Amino acid sequence: MNGELLIKNGRVIDPANGVDEKCDVLIVDELFAEVGKIERKVDKVIDAAGKIVAPGLIDIHVHFREPGDEEEETIASGSAAAVAAGFTSVVCMPNTNPPIENETDVEYIHRKGRQTRKTHVYTMGAITKKRQGVELAEMGFMVEAGAVGFTDDGNGVQDPAVMLRALKYAAMFDTVISQHCQDDGFGGGGVMNAGYYSTVLGLPGMDGLAEEAMLWRDIQLVRKTNVRYHAQHISTAGAVELIRGAKKESLPITCEVTPHHLLLSEECCAEYDTNYKVNPPLRRAEDVEALKEAIREGIVDALVTDHAPHLQSEKELEFLTAPFGIASLECALGLYVKALIEPGILDWPGLIELMTARPARIIGVNKGTLGKGKQADVTIIDPEAEYTVDVNSFRSKSRNCPYDGWELKGRVEKTIVGGEIRFES
Ligand SMILES: [Zn+2]
Ligand SMILES: [Zn+2]
Repeated sequence: MNGELLIKNGRVIDPANGVDEKCDVLIVDELFAEVGKIERKVDKVIDAAGKIVAPGLIDIHVHFREPGDEEEETIASGSAAAVAAGFTSVVCMPNTNPPIENETDVEYIHRKGRQTRKTHVYTMGAITKKRQGVELAEMGFMVEAGAVGFTDDGNGVQDPAVMLRALKYAAMFDTVISQHCQDDGFGGGGVMNAGYYSTVLGLPGMDGLAEEAMLWRDIQLVRKTNVRYHAQHISTAGAVELIRGAKKESLPITCEVTPHHLLLSEECCAEYDTNYKVNPPLRRAEDVEALKEAIREGIVDALVTDHAPHLQSEKELEFLTAPFGIASLECALGLYVKALIEPGILDWPGLIELMTARPARIIGVNKGTLGKGKQADVTIIDPEAEYTVDVNSFRSKSRNCPYDGWELKGRVEKTIVGGEIRFES
């Protein structure tokens, strides 16, 4: 956009700069120019009275399925969903088909993202070739092409020697290694949390120890290398305890949590509804409580969706064979309001910090605040607006969402990307 855009009278929340006050935000030519009481004639004014004006939301964990599974999601459909949900930046996971494992793949994702002109689309690269956990992918070239981190998401890197090599290699590029913590030594083939419910339902279980064992191992490797490490979608009380210890030691370790691990638990699987089949699985009520406590303490660094779209025909398979994943991008903000603001675990500035400034720091992008001179990405939220989740209205191509029909509060009114209004409700 060229020109001036003034957002007036909103509750401006910019946690990185300690701002939470009723004031105005001025955007000039794609960049933030000023935050404060602003009287001036401009090209366009948005009245944000009664609304929250926040830095654009950032989701550092989404699956847009392109290339390879475009019938489930594309960068275009995923980006449209993202911007409607208030996300001005997303980070795609590299477990596409084929995986994102070289500079050309990274450039492909970025180009598609730019062409779509919705949200900023970033990608992580695979840690290992074909995500097989054996040989390191070309991380250096991918960093040069703009990859914002590395993960074999969907798989954990099983071999400790390979993981150690990945961390040492990453140290050369000041990037982050993200891990889907799951030690396959505990046995593959599980489809839900291992415990009372899996026994009653007669389904093979996934032990929380598989997550904790890999996280514990990785913490030892990080202590040795001091390289930035991010634990994806932590889901157990034991994982929280490990993160708490690592943070006490001031190791360069961050972690993220998803809405489903805060709002749902293992008994949701009791009807064999595959919309509750997700990896890591929905855990015990005490795990849910531990995650909430971790957020209250401030040891969780980012709230993400792990938006994982799948075809209805696949999710209609029986629980044993259906794919893992929940498509939640388009109701994410309302879900987080329900999980964290309504019970008083976080206030609005606290929530926004975990969806903007802190995730931006993890992936090393100069975003997540309304600071002068930064690219003008803004999300305007009506904190009181109530709505019912309707999967049929999703811009996402997929409908595998267990929140259909839920009543939520906190709705995105407008999404501004680079000074341009890209979504209006
Ligand atoms: Zn994962
Ligand atoms: Zn994922």
